[in-house]
Amino acid sequence: MALVLHNTLTRSKEPFRPLDPGHVRMYVCGPTVYDRAHIGNARPVVVFDVLYRLLKRLYPRVTYVRNITDVDDKINARAKESGEPIGAITLRTTKLFHEDMAELLALPPDVEPRATAHIPQMIAMIGRLVELGHAYEAEGHVLFAVPTMPGYGRLSGRSRDEMIAGSRVEVAPYKKDPADFVLWKPSTPDLPGWESPWGRGRPGWHIECSAMSRQYLGESFDIHGGGQDLIFPHHENEIAQSECATGQPFVRVWLHNGFLKVEGEKMSKSLGNFVTVRDLLDRHPGQGEAIRLALLSTHYHQPLDWTAQGLAQAKATLDRFYLALRDAGPIEPAAQPPAEILAALEDDLNTPQALAALHERATLVNKAADPAQKAALARDLKAGGEVLGLLQQNPEAWLKSGGAGLDEAAIEAAIAARLAARKAKNFAEADRIRDELAAQGIRIEDGAAGTSWRKL
Ligand code: AMP
Ligand code: ZN
Repeated sequence: MALVLHNTLTRSKEPFRPLDPGHVRMYVCGPTVYDRAHIGNARPVVVFDVLYRLLKRLYPRVTYVRNITDVDDKINARAKESGEPIGAITLRTTKLFHEDMAELLALPPDVEPRATAHIPQMIAMIGRLVELGHAYEAEGHVLFAVPTMPGYGRLSGRSRDEMIAGSRVEVAPYKKDPADFVLWKPSTPDLPGWESPWGRGRPGWHIECSAMSRQYLGESFDIHGGGQDLIFPHHENEIAQSECATGQPFVRVWLHNGFLKVEGEKMSKSLGNFVTVRDLLDRHPGQGEAIRLALLSTHYHQPLDWTAQGLAQAKATLDRFYLALRDAGPIEPAAQPPAEILAALEDDLNTPQALAALHERATLVNKAADPAQKAALARDLKAGGEVLGLLQQNPEAWLKSGGAGLDEAAIEAAIAARLAARKAKNFAEADRIRDELAAQGIRIEDGAAGTSWRKL
């Protein structure tokens, strides 16, 4: 099978044909750094991480670029509210983002450009658009002239009226057309600003992704991704800016993940159901892998309902996989993932199907009586997990990482006390210790090789 991806531009699944099969290039819109990442922000990170891992298996070279938006009015507002300098907010939040995403086992992208380090490239691109008649200056602003772009609206498929209503920007008096959007805007002395041919100012949001993708991936590249909310206006505007500035087709395949809700409701601060990745990790220490699996349990294109039950289910699934791996003994992953797992992922990143295939593999591992056969099946299971960014921990470490409560030393001490009680034929005491551990969520298992334990 070959890779097939759902392209938002054509609204259909298409065989993936890279511009250069020797080097696949992908850009994904990254975070605006003023606050902790919420679980919705983690969805594109994890989904495109799986695609990145898959592409690396299928092609000799992949360049993955994910930007950091560190100039934005939301950041300016946060600095004004809190008194913390803008540079400190963006640096601190970027670091927290890296920490959170690492716990979700997302690989870092190859390049992670910051918008503020690419202002000259943005100014050059805006200058080119002005020169070509696709942009104009008005009252210190530079605006993109939407009617000069014939294919504008193709990605979102919106009518002109829908686009004007949907862009939610005020219809400023200096705009020639209500659909025109900002490339550059003036800054007051208290706001971040850079010198430009149009005076001191700062870039609009869309131009940063056009300028940075061009810098690291070229005028035309293979894949551009992000959440569904970015289709309009952000990605529509990126296409307009890039294609009008370079005269080249911008991106071949546009991929968009569906939105995440929490327990069936839109996540919002006012509803009190706003969940950050850090909240989840604090409540479920060491469970980043379960959070990752829960995010991959729904196909990326569908809406995802984030629930406590879904996370518990993901943890139970990992317990099952890691128990199978533990019982097979120490193994290295096979060189290739099982064909059915690769086939599921090549079919527009069908992660639910890939997880179902992992379940079947785990069943085979559990059923195998011959140790060599068991180990071979476990190597397949581990290799299958690897493409999804799962199952690479030491099984013992996972099974013991079930959450808050007793620490490892306390558990080992209790197990030793139980063993001593049994040796002394004080079975009532031994059972009491076992029950006490069970009450704390620790299950003890007596086996040929001694007593092992895991958190439930
Ligand atoms: P932002 O920091 O708001 O620019 O968003 C970063 C990324 O998270 C973008 O790709 C958004 O589309 C995505 N995103 C934001 N909220 C959600 C959500 N509730 N569900 C899925 N993706 C989201
Ligand atoms: Zn972007």
